[in-house]
Parts: sequence; C-alpha cells; structure tokens
Amino acid sequence: IIQHGQPEHSVITTCAYCGVGCSFKAEMKGNQVVNMTPNKDGHANHGHSCVKGRFAWGYATHKDRITTPMIRDNISDPWKEVSWEEAVAYAAKRFKEIQAKYGKDSVGGITSSRCTNEETYLVQKLVRAAFGNNNVDTCARVCHSPTGYGLKQTLGESAGTQTFDSVMEADVIMVIGANPTDGHPVFGSQMKRRLREGAKLIVVDPRRIDLVKSPHIKADYHLKLRPGTNVAVANALAHVIVTEGLVNEAFVAERCEPKEFEAWREFVARAENSPEELEAASGVPAKQLREAARLYATGGNAAIYYGLGVTEHSQGSTMVLAIANLAMATGNIGRQGVGVNPLRGQNNVQGSCDMGSFPHELPGYRHVSDNTARTLFESAWGVSLSNEPGLRIPNMFEAALDGTYKGLYVEGEDIAQSDPNTQHVTSALEAMECVVVQDLFLNETAKFAHVFFPGSSFLEKNGTFTNAERRISPVRKVMPPLAGKEDWEVTQMLSNALGYPMNYSHPSEIMDEIARLTPTFHGVSYDKIDAMGSVQWPCNEDAPDGTPIMHIEQFVRGKGKFFVTRYIPTDEKVTPKFPLILTTGRILSHYNVGAQTRRTNNSAWHPEDVLEIHPHDAEDRGISDGDWVGIQSRAGETVLHAKITDRMQPGVVYTTFHHPFSGANVITTDNSDWATNCPEYKVTAVQVMKVTQP
Ligand code: SF4
Repeated sequence: IIQHGQPEHSVITTCAYCGVGCSFKAEMKGNQVVNMTPNKDGHANHGHSCVKGRFAWGYATHKDRITTPMIRDNISDPWKEVSWEEAVAYAAKRFKEIQAKYGKDSVGGITSSRCTNEETYLVQKLVRAAFGNNNVDTCARVCHSPTGYGLKQTLGESAGTQTFDSVMEADVIMVIGANPTDGHPVFGSQMKRRLREGAKLIVVDPRRIDLVKSPHIKADYHLKLRPGTNVAVANALAHVIVTEGLVNEAFVAERCEPKEFEAWREFVARAENSPEELEAASGVPAKQLREAARLYATGGNAAIYYGLGVTEHSQGSTMVLAIANLAMATGNIGRQGVGVNPLRGQNNVQGSCDMGSFPHELPGYRHVSDNTARTLFESAWGVSLSNEPGLRIPNMFEAALDGTYKGLYVEGEDIAQSDPNTQHVTSALEAMECVVVQDLFLNETAKFAHVFFPGSSFLEKNGTFTNAERRISPVRKVMPPLAGKEDWEVTQMLSNALGYPMNYSHPSEIMDEIARLTPTFHGVSYDKIDAMGSVQWPCNEDAPDGTPIMHIEQFVRGKGKFFVTRYIPTDEKVTPKFPLILTTGRILSHYNVGAQTRRTNNSAWHPEDVLEIHPHDAEDRGISDGDWVGIQSRAGETVLHAKITDRMQPGVVYTTFHHPFSGANVITTDNSDWATNCPEYKVTAVQVMKVTQP
C-alpha cells in the first residue's frame, strides 16, 4: 500500500481522523501516496502530527475496499455487482415505491462527521428537496449534539469559542470528560507544552487519564467523580464561586441577562449544591471541589476543554449549560486563553452540524420553522420545504419498528456498530424495506443493506472539513476515486434519479451555494481557503478573514444567558445484579469503530478492546490480568480480556469501542440526553464475571 521512492509532487490536504484537523502534505509519486508529511504551515498543527494521521492512511487502498456498486432484493440474497447507473436507478425506484406506499415521511438519510461539508450539505438537501421531509440526521447525534444545543442556548452559537493556540495563554486548564492525549493527540501535546510552562490543571474524569500524571506534568486536582455525576460537580464548583464572592460581577453585569443570572445565583447558592452535600453523590471530596473552584475562578485566564465524557449522558445538555455558566460567571470568555472548548471526536463533527444535517435545523443552525430562513432555501432550491422537524436517528429506529419508517440512505456511518443497543438497531434495520449504504467497506450496517454505493476516501475527493476550532480546511484529491465517483457525485446522481435535479460540476460550487445561503459563511470560498490555508467561521462581511475568538464584545445571542442546572441522577442505577458502572473511551492508535485504523499497521498496537478493572474489583471476582471476562448489562452481554489497573476507581470499569467483535454497544442502553437524545454511552450498569472462553 505504501509506495516507496522519491515523491514527485505534493498536495496539501487535511487529516481524516480527529477534530484537530491537522494539515498534511500528501507526497505523491504518480497516483500513489509516498508519504503523509505534516504541514509546517498548518494553522491547527504547526507541523505536528500523530500516529493516525501520519501513518494510518493505507486503509484508502486496502483490499477490503468495495469499488463496484451492488444491489440485492433481500438482505438474505447474494450481492449483485451492477453499474453506477443501475444501482442508482434501483435505489431511487425502491425509495419512490416506499414513499408511494407509506407516505413521504417514510424515508430519510443519515450522514457522517467523516463526510466533507459539501457531501453533508448535499445529503441534507437531497432529504429535504428530493424526499420532501426533514428526516436527516448526523452521527453528531451520538456525540456532540448536546454541545450544539447547550452553547446555542447560553452563548448563541453552537461552536467552541477559541482557537487551539489560545491554550498557550491559559493559566488554568480544566479538562472535563476528555482525554486529549489519546483522542486529540496533537492538541494534547500543545496542552502539555503549556502545562510544562506552568499552567495549572484540573482534570474532571472518573479514570486516571495520562494528563493526571505523566512526565513533568501532574494535575493540581483530579476530581475523580462517579460516572453520571458531572452536573453535581459543576453545581458544587458554582456554589463555591457564588458563596465565596468569586463571581466576576462586572463581566456578568455588562455581558449577561440579569434575570437568569440571579435565578442561577440563587439556585447554586442553596445548601443542596454545596460540595459537602454533593460529596457523597459525586464521590469527590468536598475539600477538592472547593479548592478546584477557587483555582478556576481566581487563577487568571481559565479555559475549559471537554469531550464526550460531558455530552454522552442523560444530562449531557445540562452539563454543557453548566460549563457555559461557569465560564460566564467568572468572565472567562471572549479573549485569548479562556473559553468553552468542545473537543470534537471526528474530523468534521463541527462541519456536519454547521451544514444542517439535523432534523430541526437548516444549514447555519436555523430552525426549520423559521419562515425567513426556510423561504430563503425554498427560493434557492426551487421547492417548498417542510416546517416540521423530522426524525432523529433513535426516532428513525423506533418508527422502523413501528412500521412507519421504511427507507434509509446512510453515508459514511456504521450505525449498526456505533449506535447504542445493537440489538435494537439491527432489528430496526431489518424492518426497513430499502437500506442504501454508501461507504468504503462492507461495514456492519451493510449486512442489512439492499444497495451498496462504494464511497471515496479523503484522498480521492475534493471538499472541506471544519475542525473543533471552527476552522474550514481544504480536502484535496490526490488520486482518482477507486470506484470512479466522489461521494458528492453519487448523492447528486441519486437526487437526479429521484426527480430533484442537481448539477454541480465541482464541490467548490456547493461551497459557493453554502456561502450564499449561510450568513456565517458569506465570505467563505475555495479561493479564500486556498489563499489563507484555512479560515475560521464566522467568515463574512464583518469578519472577512474569519474569527479566531468568538463573543469578544458581546455574545452572539447578545447577552449571555444562565440556566439553572438541577442535578438529576441517571436512571441507569447499579444494583446487586449489576453492581459496576461501565464507561467508554478511545485509545491513541485507533479511531472510533476502527473501520479505517484496523486496516492499517496501527492494528498491531491495539489488536483488541479490553476491559480495564480496578484490582479490588478483580480480586473480588477472582479475575487475573488477561483473563476472559463476561460483561453483562440490562441490554446485552459481551466478552473481553481483563486488564487490571489502578487507573480505574473501584466500582467503575472501562473499555474502548474500536473493534466490532468486542461489541461494546451490545451492552450500552437506550438511555439518552433529555434534550437531544445523545446516547448515554458513558454510564452502563454491568456485572463482570470471569469466563473460560468466549
Ligand atoms: Fe492530527 Fe487528529 Fe489526524 Fe492525529 S488524528 S494527525 S491529531 S487530525
């Protein structure tokens, strides 16, 4: 796969893995990639890279790639290879038949944060204009949908507030439910540089992640909470800030809504929110909570970085609101070195949300019931659009099992592996009459598909990704698509076959349309991206060169809005039958469900998911390091090797989700965030027992 020899030319492109969005030079010999060399001029990575972006791109030409479209009448039939034209016509015919029989709302689409902005924009346009409904969702549903909700409500924009470089001016760094050295390695290294320079560190995590203690770095506070108690911890921190007079009164008076602030102040000051009251629930000593709150509020520039350990909870959205409350109360927003910074797991989580792939929002986060916005799109697209929010991913599954949702177009997302409660998901897929999968490989979801459209990797197409700091970066084609089509071309063909015409000749034309119709993108174009290397939105008449730091003089919504964030324990309780809590995360060498990294040399470094368990819990169960253990939850059961480690706290076990055979999502439940349905991946009550063999 990796060609050796002297490169003849290079192409600047962007890593297809995590939300750091590192810039690379793809060094080429003919049509073959020789090297992926980190780009010194890359604004997000400044010439740095990690083992994924630098070495794990060989999946693009792996022998498992499917390069010919395929169809079958039933999922028990063998696949039949056909031409693009036949496959597209077949899919369109089946979707039309379903809509004729069950109504226009009986079909929809799911796009992925691995897709480019342009691809995602086209999928949501196809669903809205060709299917005629709003049944479009993205895999951000299962990761950062609470971020979109919470930051829009409090600050006015569904995005992080800073650049990555801003961390170099932070005096206090609070990392909540994120593991940047594994999940966002290049930014994790930058954060470590700042910590070595003397910045203080507060880690809020049930597990002892590397940042807590690594060479030359030791967290000042590790708030080792029980999974599911984030909001209790945030409220305890807020209680100390309010009751000890640490609120930045001048900032709040000038920048925030007074009525909501006073309601929040009164709420968090109550004794029920004191560290002493919440110590038992959270498992964090009150003294630590008090000292950490004082450090965050008085230690200079204080920045919060958070990840899926915040969002993937039944109170995920509440916790995002609580984080914004803390930043506003202490005035830590609107300048370098501070802010609220969601660390996005995938390369284009931010972009997939920006592009309107939510069932309630058009591109640019405008609600489908917003008449002005909808009229703008109706006029540009020449169709009338529904003002009713469509189905979210979990609602699609429920509707499929109810018999009202029958057809699904899914691009770049392996829902059968990545969504919770696998049994429920696969039953829903089986109940559908037409599932169209567009992907590089025959993934788990494709087992339930009637049409397979071969996808194109990031090396085979043009487009853009938007990273966690709102940076729109170029994705540039370095080799022809193996299957002959770029993903956006396939969506366009399907739309045309469905009867809604699209005739873009290049993704730059799609971006031009996005820019025309989206106020925060008015100034974005391929010419600008190529000239500047990348650009951070908002990029428009007010900010022609983009916006590194948001909310400087006022919040996007005008005044910042506080929310009362009551701690409500999750319904997922431990019991004598399920006495341990399972939580999940990532490892450096792999990426999400592993479809890409498992097909590279990285697979040798971490060939399987394992269950991390505290020595006391292991001893209680007679488990030795390396034993097979059965893990049983209310949803299902799986088997993994045990790894005994005091990284874990007693009562909490941990695994990753990079391998399909480990079936982590077989055991996760249907619980989800109250506002967005983001699954509660981070809290599953389980029992763990030694078993002889899987
Ligand atoms: Fe950069 Fe993330 Fe790619 Fe690593 S995986 S090279 S940190 S974008």
